[in-house]
Amino acid sequence: MASNSSSMRRLGWGTVIEETHRRAFELAAVRETPAFFFSRERLDHAISTFNSFMAELPFSVETYYSYKTNYLPALCEHVEAAGFGAEVTSLLEWELATAITPPSRIVVNGIGKQAGLLEAVLNSAPPRLINIETDTEVDHIAKRKPDAAPVSVGLRVTVPGLSGESGRDPSVHWRRGPSKFGWMANGTAIIQTATKLAAFPAVRLQALHLHLGGQLVSPAVYERALAAGCRLLERLRQNGVSITTLDMGGGLASGWVTKHRVGPLFELLRTVGVPTPGRPQRAPDLQGVSAVFIRFADRLRSLGIKQLVVEPGRFVAEPSMLAVASVIAVRHDGRRRHAVIDLGTNALHCWRQDETRPISFETGRAPRSGGQHRYELVGPLCHRSDTLGTVTTSAPLRPGMKVCLDAVGAYSLGDWVANAWHRPPVFDLEDGSILWDRQTTPQFWAPATSPAEPLP
Ligand SMILES: *Cc1c(COP(=O)(O)O)cnc(C)c1O
Repeated sequence: MASNSSSMRRLGWGTVIEETHRRAFELAAVRETPAFFFSRERLDHAISTFNSFMAELPFSVETYYSYKTNYLPALCEHVEAAGFGAEVTSLLEWELATAITPPSRIVVNGIGKQAGLLEAVLNSAPPRLINIETDTEVDHIAKRKPDAAPVSVGLRVTVPGLSGESGRDPSVHWRRGPSKFGWMANGTAIIQTATKLAAFPAVRLQALHLHLGGQLVSPAVYERALAAGCRLLERLRQNGVSITTLDMGGGLASGWVTKHRVGPLFELLRTVGVPTPGRPQRAPDLQGVSAVFIRFADRLRSLGIKQLVVEPGRFVAEPSMLAVASVIAVRHDGRRRHAVIDLGTNALHCWRQDETRPISFETGRAPRSGGQHRYELVGPLCHRSDTLGTVTTSAPLRPGMKVCLDAVGAYSLGDWVANAWHRPPVFDLEDGSILWDRQTTPQFWAPATSPAEPLP
């Protein structure tokens, strides 16, 4: 077994990983590669870890699984059976979610609201919550008939200056500019919007939505978000608006992917020899995060908060899927050796240059960590970003060998059609004929409804 920055050994349950990889290799031998493998066992483990964490929080918590993270129907059905509702950001996700769970168990978010989602949602039975983020959405909701069934609404809030996680240094965040979602927590616009919404008859303004970004590991982020949230709740109360629910979004790191700090500032400091806090980030400090909520509980309650909503995605989905690919070429170039595999970062869209995941090779002998054979593992695409990391193996790699890439369950399958929009059609430019139909929802569902052949 190859070691990928020895992250696998540090995970502490290496045998579980080895067993899962062995099973994936076994199936790959009778199926085909490249292929993804979905493990309900892995998913259950993540769900129960998440539930134990939620049980520590000093509030009643409702959990909604983020469909865009991975909307494999079997996965969505499994999290529903485990008691999670659905969180959707596009019309396609809404269609999938309503086939699995009633609207009252669905939280509606994201940019897709303005692309048909909000209209579909407002014409259906009310969902659990719609978190809105623009004046345009407020105007849309304002058109709701006064005698229609009331819809519960939240306001998406941006906490200014919240950055420093996701393995990037602050320079990356500065360059990217402010978030494109929601109202600034410390601004006046959110107060005006809230006052306006609270007056609509068919709307119940209930929640603040504080989705804080991805790959969160430290309690400090929650500390700053809750502090900003409390200040906002106070200002809202002074203006006669009472909020009962905090939706903390998703973003919690799964603990399976190691992030290394990168970014212009980090590179510069390293070049000039300044010691930098470049420690890899991996597992979230769940105890630390719950301690933050416990510290804020009294203040939040005194401000009217009774209920927490959470929207985990990667925390549950990331460990639930592995990919198996084949080595198609081993190339020597001076001192460098590349092992080329038949799965690129277009399919593994989740893979970032600054991340490492557990990787193992089927060498035909007992898997061993580490070894003297060192390779850069690359996909078949021409661009440089199609690099999966550096691996060392106990035996030389040869074409035909299989490789297992772990923890690819978040933003890989989902991102294949870019956050759940249908794949567009292809037309012949000369005669206008259709060359490839637009993907439809039934086509998307098809693999899940055709009976699978039993496997050994
Ligand atoms: C993507 C998303 C999530 C899930 O995020 P993860 O990082 O996968 O946990 C939750 N809420 C909202 C609003 C999102 O956009």
